[in-house]
Amino acid sequence: MKPQLCLVSTLLAWALSSQAHAYELLTPEMVTKLVPAESNLWFEAERAENVLKEQGRTIENAPLQAYVQQVMDGLYPEWKGILRVQVIDDPVYNAFAMPNGAVYIHSGLLARLENEAQLATVLSHEAGHVIYRHGYRLRNSADGLAVVTGLVTVINPLVGLLGVFTQTAGLYGFSRDNEREADRVAFQRLSQNGYDLREATRTFQMLAEEALAVKDTNPPPYVFATHPKLEEREDSFKALLVAKNAQGGELGKERFEQATRVLRQTQLKNDFQAARYTQLITAMSKVENRSRYGIEADFYLAEAYRLRKQSGDSGLARSSYSEVLKQQPQHIGAMRGLANLSYREGKLDEASSLLESILQTTPLSEADAGFARQLLNKVNTKRNPDAVATVASATPQEEKK
Ligand SMILES: [Zn+2]
Repeated sequence: MKPQLCLVSTLLAWALSSQAHAYELLTPEMVTKLVPAESNLWFEAERAENVLKEQGRTIENAPLQAYVQQVMDGLYPEWKGILRVQVIDDPVYNAFAMPNGAVYIHSGLLARLENEAQLATVLSHEAGHVIYRHGYRLRNSADGLAVVTGLVTVINPLVGLLGVFTQTAGLYGFSRDNEREADRVAFQRLSQNGYDLREATRTFQMLAEEALAVKDTNPPPYVFATHPKLEEREDSFKALLVAKNAQGGELGKERFEQATRVLRQTQLKNDFQAARYTQLITAMSKVENRSRYGIEADFYLAEAYRLRKQSGDSGLARSSYSEVLKQQPQHIGAMRGLANLSYREGKLDEASSLLESILQTTPLSEADAGFARQLLNKVNTKRNPDAVATVASATPQEEKK
């Protein structure tokens, strides 16, 4: 990854040194008459777009797709058909635009946003980069860039142009001035569309808070590295907000909730499976967040506490499991988790009664039944260490960690 880091810092240096050059803003009419250098860049972007699609990196969910596109079209009606939004299957909090109008929002970010006004903030900012031709300006800021990018593209197309745009020029990656330009156009469009402008500030504030909360995880999450940029976005929108003296406006909360529900549930599961426990806990320990995810949020929160094993986590896991079982007494996952926890804490009676309950549940999958029998065996062995364990030498899955 070293050469890429080098490329990134070089790109940034070039970008910062090229502010003096004046560029006309792109209009939809100009798109068919681009100069060869820019049209080549568009062609490369299209290739990167195809790579993402072929590799199955985008989420193919028609209603979700239609929704994010509709939000973008509402913000930039004259750009319909050129600004195309897609959702990338990726847990990081990021979004990026390619110079040809292909805008990507990562599923991790989309799942964490709270309403349509926040989504519109992200999309309108990214579209701003397209209209200000920041990608082209970045490319033009050094003669050798095309060669460098071209070389990397040969080695790995995804690390090539895509790398440049996801890592250098994503939601937080262009130069300070470029980012502010994108913020300004975003703010204007949000305002024209009647969105609550305070949500623009809130979007970045929320992400910055979460970045801080997970800064000690190892390895530090991508979002933390971009933290100063998040604060800059927050400040920049705050300044625009003060200037406009804006209050009120539309949130589009229900529309957003409905369109993104599937995504949120998947994201929760993905975070859990990838052992991103602290991120999951940071997001889900807030009641108002949990309510947007349904009962599974309490379940995964409990699981995350149980498996993270920091001081105080066991108690918190226990109360989250109880919350799930209060709402759904037959929730097998919660019974399994709580049985595991009780076993670990030496509460053998409780473990055994939970395991018996699992075995009496119908219908019961083979896997759940097997788990219950195995752990029951271990409980009995622990109670009576002199007796020879008959089955179960294997540790149940969740306890392995
Ligand atoms: Zn940006």
